[in-house]
Parts: sequence; structure tokens; C-alpha cells
Amino acid sequence: VEGSEGRESGYWRLSKLAVPARDDPGKDFTGISLPLLQAIAKAIKFPVASMLPDEVFTVIRKSFDARKVLKEPQFTYTVDMDVKKLLDMEPRAWDFIARLEPKLGAVEYMPKEKLASDLVSMLNASNKGYDHELGIRDTHNGSICPQDKKPRVAVIGSGPSGLFASLVLGELGADVTLLERGQPVEQRGRDIGALAVRRILQSESNFCFGEGGAGTWSDGKLVTRIGRNTDGVQAVMQTFVHFGAPPNILVDGKPHLGTDKLVPLLRNFRHHLRELGVTIRFNARVDDLIVEDRQVKGIVVSDSELRPGSGSQKLSFDAVVLAVGHSARDTYNMLQQHNVDMSPKSFAYPVTLFFSPAYLKKARVGLRIEHPQELINSIQYSELAAEVQKGRGRIPVADYKIVKSVGEKNAEELDIAEQSRSCYSFCMCPGGQVVLTSTDPSELCINGMSFSRRASKWANSALVVTVSSHDFKPFRSHGPLAGVEFQREFERRAAVMGGGNFVVPAQRVTDFISNRLSVTTLPPSSYRLGVRPSKLHELFPPYITEALQQSIIMIDREMPGFFAKEALLHGVETRTSSPLQISRYGETYESTSLQGLYPIGEGAGYAGGILSAAVDEKCPQKQPIKYASENLRHN
Ligand code: FAD
Repeated sequence: VEGSEGRESGYWRLSKLAVPARDDPGKDFTGISLPLLQAIAKAIKFPVASMLPDEVFTVIRKSFDARKVLKEPQFTYTVDMDVKKLLDMEPRAWDFIARLEPKLGAVEYMPKEKLASDLVSMLNASNKGYDHELGIRDTHNGSICPQDKKPRVAVIGSGPSGLFASLVLGELGADVTLLERGQPVEQRGRDIGALAVRRILQSESNFCFGEGGAGTWSDGKLVTRIGRNTDGVQAVMQTFVHFGAPPNILVDGKPHLGTDKLVPLLRNFRHHLRELGVTIRFNARVDDLIVEDRQVKGIVVSDSELRPGSGSQKLSFDAVVLAVGHSARDTYNMLQQHNVDMSPKSFAYPVTLFFSPAYLKKARVGLRIEHPQELINSIQYSELAAEVQKGRGRIPVADYKIVKSVGEKNAEELDIAEQSRSCYSFCMCPGGQVVLTSTDPSELCINGMSFSRRASKWANSALVVTVSSHDFKPFRSHGPLAGVEFQREFERRAAVMGGGNFVVPAQRVTDFISNRLSVTTLPPSSYRLGVRPSKLHELFPPYITEALQQSIIMIDREMPGFFAKEALLHGVETRTSSPLQISRYGETYESTSLQGLYPIGEGAGYAGGILSAAVDEKCPQKQPIKYASENLRHN
């Protein structure tokens, strides 16, 4: 048949295969069911579904879709079909395969070597020493550094960006020291317990600081806007699975881990790094950089906070990777003292050096809204809601993701690019709880977390409004840290409104819209340290409050019932993104102002979320490890 030569092997990728939810074995099943075979047969126009051998198909992605535009809720699959295997087992299929168009919407021919799902063989081809099965580099074969010339690299921070930087550098044979101001996960868990029960906030071991970084006591959503199928993201996901994450995260349309899965994963990650030769130091806060002639020569480490009297220590390094996250405000201050190039988020950058849409993302602030999970289930799933069964059922616990553009009101005050604001839901945690992410008792900010089953009775999400350098004007005297001061201002106001002791100011959403204090008893909240009825409508300036109010009304039109008397707003959500960017060169990641300093991850303004921080956004599409090794040789 014309045009089909060479297609007796390779794969067809079949996407948008719909299986009605009532016929599907459920969210945890990632095999090939008969209803899925029927959807496949329909896509390739094969007459008898049961004649298709299920061994030839691999599920690449499975998502639950309950959008109102559909006739009924469905699971949507992407499946790879191994042509050679199929023809060996069912030669009559050739008549149908030969007629398929090479690229036709949901059906696409992919020569074997192009398959994203075949990442491991791709890495094998491009990286000698890579472990085929595990997706991580063989420690001893892969080193590119001669023993006597090992560069000494300090990685500051053990969040996703610091952990993966340490992994890659360690695999390449560098002499890596990972310094983390907080505690290992075991002790960190106890410190977080003491916070939740006895209101003791450890300044260095809390929801933001400690092994694994900010996302450890989190929902562990592994979604990213940088492209799920890019090789960098796939390599990170494979690595997570290797360290103990359930393999279905590779297939799930909206994968998440939950705190209970993250903690053991991080322990395995730590053991592997140590086996690789990485030195890991906890309780080790980096307070300063040693700089000579604009070149970083080392760091000053202090662990006196947790071990009084131990003082500080100067350590020499050839390079310093800065992966400190966006809550390390003291570290930002230190960088400012060294005149490191930084700008508040959304300041324009020289296009040639830094152009990338994500670099221009804005900062955002807002509130966290919480509903009973059952209400969100019934809004999203109607009668199917009964099947959710607290995360144990066939259907995933319902979530939502909303973006609204609001408010032309302030147009005359703003420049053209900022005439409307986006308000959106962020870090939605179905079956989760609201938690305290403050690092200083005089400031109050919150976020959400969940366990893997997402079984709590609450659904919470940040509702945030984009803000920009224009909004930071009152804090302009702080220079590049204006955005940090902007965040801090609202965190302090929230602490005062809550009345202290980490009590969170809260307001019924119905009262927030009407600009009045909630006088009746507040609905229950998942937040463990208590909520206090407050005038949250007075916490932010009007342009933020009004944008939030308008968007809530708009969301209710899309999700009737969202604007409910049971819905409770909590204040404040300020740290959903970095308020600044540390300038670095696009190719080498090196700071534009200090040689030998490599700012990465969310704190440097190049990521937002676990996956994008682990990958860092400029990780090249094809050969992340090779690229890193070239950089290392270069520098
Ligand atoms: P971080 O994870 O912030 O790590 C920085 C590390 O550096 C910290 O461990 C800190 O202790 C350490 N450090 C800071 N300063 C110093 C210093 N001077 N010396 C030594 N060590 C230092 N993202 C998602 O994708 N999905 C989610 O579900 C999700 N939920 C979240 C829930 C919560 C409660 C929070 C707080 C965040 C959540 N996030 C989530 C965001 C995610 O955690 C971050 O985007 C991500 O962790 C950023 O990674 P990072 O490595 O850049 O920085």
C-alpha cells in the first residue's frame, strides 16, 4: 500500500482513546482492558476488538475526564502499539495498519527511536554508563572527571533542584558537598509534628526548610507546564520511580505522590547520593560566599542555630550551585550584599541572554480556599461523585484548575502589558489539608498538602492574583528584594489578623464577597492551629481583593456551588512563586555577576514546582546529562 513502506516495525501512538468511566476498571488500573481494546479497534478501524492481542499495547497516559461538555465522564488513554509484535501475532492486522495515515490527529506513526516512552534506550545511546533499567547513571563507569582533577562543587539546598544537581554532578564524578540548613526527613517529620501539635516553629526545620525542600510535606503533584514528555521530565520521573515512587506516576495524567510516598523516596535518594560519594551535611546553613575578584572561592557555613556554640566554618570550592528555594530570604540578603545581579519578578530581561516565556512569569499572591471534598466531587462529577469513596474508589478524588482574567479597572495606573490580571487556582490539593509554611513566627503564610490517598474530607486550593514589579513600587527602596518585602508585608498583616500563635485569619467566601466579617461560626477547617474570623477583604490592597472577588463569581458560573457558605478562605498565600530572579547566562547557568556561582531552581526564579525545579527549565530536550557534562568540562 502506498506510503506504508518501513512501517512493518516501529510504533503507532494512539491518543484520545476514550473509555466511558462506567466500563473502565478504574483509576489504578494501567493495563489493557477489553473496553480499551474496543476503543483501539475503533481508532485503527479493526473489526473485532477481541482479536487484538493485548501484549502489543502499552498504556502511556491515562487521565480521568469529567468535563461537562462530554456526554458522560470517561478515562482518556494514550497507547503505543508495537507494529512488529502485532503483525507476528495477528498478520491480518496489516490490512488495517497499512491504511493508517502516518499522522492523523489522534493516530501517529513513530519510528522506534523517536519514542519518548523509550527514554531509557535513548539515554543508553547518548550516555555511556547509564543504567538501562533504572534510568540513572552507573556510578563508577560514567565519571568524566579524572580522579586527580575532580572539581569540588558545593550544592546549597536539598530541594528537588539541589538533589538533582547533586545527582548529576556526582554521576559525572565531581566532588560534591550538599549543604542543607534543615534536618533530614526523619527529624524534620518530628519538628513538623511539634509545630502542628505544640505550636513550636523551628526556624531551620519546617514546611519550607529541610531535606527534600519545600515540596516534601506537600501534595506531591508531579505536573508541569514544561512538557511532560520532554526527556528531562521523563528522566526525573524515572528517577523518582527508581527511588520508590509508584510506577503509575509515569502513566497517570495527573500524577501525585503525597507526603507518605515522598518521605521514603527522599531517604532512598539520600542513600544513593552517599553511595555515589556525595557528602551530605544537614543543619548546615550557608551564610556567606567567599568572593575574590568577582569569583566565588568558597562558602561560610554555620550550624550554630541548631547546635549552639559550634560557630561557622569556611570551606573552599571550585563552584557553588545555589538551590535555596524562595523562602531563604536571609540568603537573598547575603546575595544582595555581594551585588549579585537580581531583579524583582517580571522586570524585563535582555532578550538575547534570557529569553524564555517562563522567565517572564509574574509573581502572585492571594488566599487559600477550602471546601468540603464531597461538595467539589458533586460539582465536578454529579452522580458519579458517589464512586469516589475517599480515594479508594475507581474514580479519582475531584480537583479543579481555573484561570480567569479580571479587572481592567486599574488600567490607567498600569503599563500596557499589565492592564488585566490573571486570577487562578494554584496547587489544588484534593483530599488534603491547609498547612503553615511560615519560617518566621512574626509572619504567616500557608499552603496545602495531602497524603497519597487524598482521603481527607477537605479540598483546598490557592486562589492567586498575578502581581508585578509595578505593584512592588512602595518597596522600591529594597531594590531587587522589593518583591520579597511585598510578600512579607501581607504575611505580617496576616499574622496580626490571626492574633498570633499561628492562628490563621479566615472568612466565609460569601462574606468576603460582601466585604463583611463572618459573624456566625465559621465552617470547619483542616488547618490544625486554629482559624479566626477576620476581615480578609481588608488584608490586600483593593486591586487584589477586587480581582479575587470578581474571579470567585466567575468561577461559580463555571462550577456552580463553588461560591458556597461552607467555603472558607484562609490568609495568606504569598509564596507560590519566586518574587525575584537571579540573572544567569542561558548556556552555562553561571551567574552574570559572580563567576563560579550557579543559581538554579525556584529560588533563582527558573522554576515553579517540584518537577520544573528538578529539571530546571533550560535543561535541553535531548541529552540532559551530556549537556551537564559539557558544562562541567567547560567550567
Ligand atoms: P526548595 O524545595 O525550596 O529547596 C530549597 C532548599 O534549600 C530547602 O531545603 C532549604 O532548607 C535549603 N536552603 C535554603 N537556604 C539555605 C542556605 N542558606 N543554606 C543551606 N540550605 C539552604 N510543587 C509541586 O510541583 N507540587 C506540589 O504538590 C507542591 N506542593 C507544595 C506544598 C507546599 C506546602 C509547599 C511549601 C510547596 C509546594 N510545591 C509544590 C512547590 C515546590 O515545593 C517547590 O516548587 C520546589 O520544592 C522548589 O524546589 P527548589 O529545589 O527550587 O527549592
